[in-house]
Amino acid sequence: MNRNRSPGGHQARKRFGQNFLVDASTIAKIVAAVAPKPSDNIVEIGPGQGAITEPMLSRCPSLNVVELDRDLIPLLQAKFQQYPALQIHQGDALSTDFSRFYQTGRPLRIIGNLPYNISTPLLFHLLGYSGMIKDMHFMLQKEVVDRLAASPGEKHYGRLSVMVQYHSQVQPLFRVPPGAFRPAPKVESAIVRLVPYPQPPCPATNLARLSKLVNACFQQRRKTIRNTLKHLVTEAQLAELEVDLSLRPETLSVADFVRLSNQMEAFS
Ligand code: SAM
Repeated sequence: MNRNRSPGGHQARKRFGQNFLVDASTIAKIVAAVAPKPSDNIVEIGPGQGAITEPMLSRCPSLNVVELDRDLIPLLQAKFQQYPALQIHQGDALSTDFSRFYQTGRPLRIIGNLPYNISTPLLFHLLGYSGMIKDMHFMLQKEVVDRLAASPGEKHYGRLSVMVQYHSQVQPLFRVPPGAFRPAPKVESAIVRLVPYPQPPCPATNLARLSKLVNACFQQRRKTIRNTLKHLVTEAQLAELEVDLSLRPETLSVADFVRLSNQMEAFS
């Protein structure tokens, strides 16, 4: 038996992160978590052979899907020809302008069993549209969900936790074992719900500066804040910062990072 050949006969491609969902109870749980309504503005990233698309379409017939693999497009078109309001876009979600799907009064609901090799850059790309997004439901590597949801001081807390939590609430929902997919991935997976804030609770005066600061802090997470920040501000400015400089960055909350970033912005 060819373990990479999916039920639809398509040869799964590793480079596109293709692990197709085959477990009916997992698919039903995902649809229940999203709870689609007919008027929703849903965009699915990486529909593959339509495992999630199909049950979504029966509840919300006007759906946009973005799929990179050209070979899957005719398969999707044939499978869903009875749904004329389904819009199939061939392209790379990493360079897709998601604002094209937004309509006033109809914020985006983004869903996807994401290709794990691009999940972090894709999350950062989508954060750029958080003002247009109502919520996002993603299947990710469980470790990535742990990083998204981690609190200060925890092992998985890092740049991804801070930047995603800056923009949105993170709700880990449930785990999905490798056996729910074909081919089975080597790792555990999990479903997460991200709900962007209409306005971040602690707004940064300069988001690029916050991002740079958080990057610098987690590049060498064992360094103290003093040792990281001394390359970014003067000695006199360091003394003015309202933070205990002997701490490690991994102990700072999102609000702490924003406060630091805003103080540094005020220096410039
Ligand atoms: N949704 C299907 C399922 O659950 O069975 C497929 C999930 S599979 C893990 C990921 C899907 O994303 C594949 O169909 C793959 O071709 C597609 N994909 C990979 N990279 C992509 C990209 N950059 N943009 C859009 N789709 C992508």
